[in-house]
Amino acid sequence: MADIPNRPIYMDYQATTPLDERVLEAMMPYFAEHFGNPHSTTHSFGWMAEEAVEKARGRIASLIGASADEIIFTSGATEANNLAIKGMGRAYSHHRNTIITVETEHKCVLESATQMAREGMNIVYLPVGADGLVDLDIFAAALNDDVLLVSVMAVNNEIGVIQPIREMAALCREKRIFFHTDAAQALGKMPLDVVDMNIDLMSLSAHKIYGPKGVGALYVRRESRARPEPVLSGGGQEGGLRSGTLAPALCVGFGEACEVAAAEMDADLERLQCYFDRIIGALCVPERGVQLNGHQRQRFPGNINISIEGLDGELLLSSIRDLAVSSGAACASAVSGPSYVLQAIGVPENLAEASLRIGLGRQTTDAEVDYAIDFLLQAIEQLRKKA
Ligand SMILES: *Cc1c(COP(=O)(O)O)cnc(C)c1O
Repeated sequence: MADIPNRPIYMDYQATTPLDERVLEAMMPYFAEHFGNPHSTTHSFGWMAEEAVEKARGRIASLIGASADEIIFTSGATEANNLAIKGMGRAYSHHRNTIITVETEHKCVLESATQMAREGMNIVYLPVGADGLVDLDIFAAALNDDVLLVSVMAVNNEIGVIQPIREMAALCREKRIFFHTDAAQALGKMPLDVVDMNIDLMSLSAHKIYGPKGVGALYVRRESRARPEPVLSGGGQEGGLRSGTLAPALCVGFGEACEVAAAEMDADLERLQCYFDRIIGALCVPERGVQLNGHQRQRFPGNINISIEGLDGELLLSSIRDLAVSSGAACASAVSGPSYVLQAIGVPENLAEASLRIGLGRQTTDAEVDYAIDFLLQAIEQLRKKA
């Protein structure tokens, strides 16, 4: 078996990504040296911080084809999703009262929608097929005059499938329905252009693209005149949409992460596609009883969610401690019960319990991939013998 220097090997890039060294370096001066409040307008301490924040805002905007004044900084994609869904709902429910979303969205989208149901809105949860994708005919049939907002994620965090958001957003634009997408797993990993794709609101997170935790953004299309009701009240920062003093170091880190992603996206993607092919080629052969969950091709290759027939999920996880991966099994996450995403695509409970999400990214090496393949094959074989 190939040997490897550093164990455990990090293969959980959907949970978070390591901070890129270039990002850390860009952030450093804004912790102590340039400590000013970016909202202080009367002196150079404030101006210095403001300038850095605005430069970062421009870099984030540029990665999604937006302009800087359409980017609202938040604490992450969770807050951005809350602001998009609760904010739009509260601002316009008197006008149109339905929000459409999808069963396999991130919890922060589903829970925000549930809150709006408590506040009297009608929420429609669309199903997905066995491939994890929303059917466009079902989608089109759900749109009507009462629909205010549609919220569909770009790339699923558990199974990596890419939803047809361009097609959905085009249908929504025709019907004057606001289209929001949670792009936390898509930013910097695939080309995104909010103008070209007809997107009105987009949620972003820095720590999924080698930036710092604790910062993200909501893109709000200026031309759509969408103005979500703020969730946080206070000093009226971020155009009144998100009060609170910005953290310049975090904003700068997010901007730098976007700059790096823009330069390296193509190369990153090409490498990940090779790793994906290698891992799938080795593991997903019929006689091994390993299946890839979600659409086989319409997906981000850095997310490999597999189920392994006939194995106990807990035993499986405990036998591969050298690999830091995530699992769809009960008790593997803060929420108990097998993954609702795997359930939604019809993976039977026993297979959902015996599932692994292998997440690869920029720091993943050839040697790590080889090691992971050998290690998984060995663990599966040994567990099969015992079973
Ligand atoms: C990580 C993630 C979030 C939450 O982002 P935070 O910045 O950690 O709040 C939301 N949606 C998706 C799809 C994610 O992957």
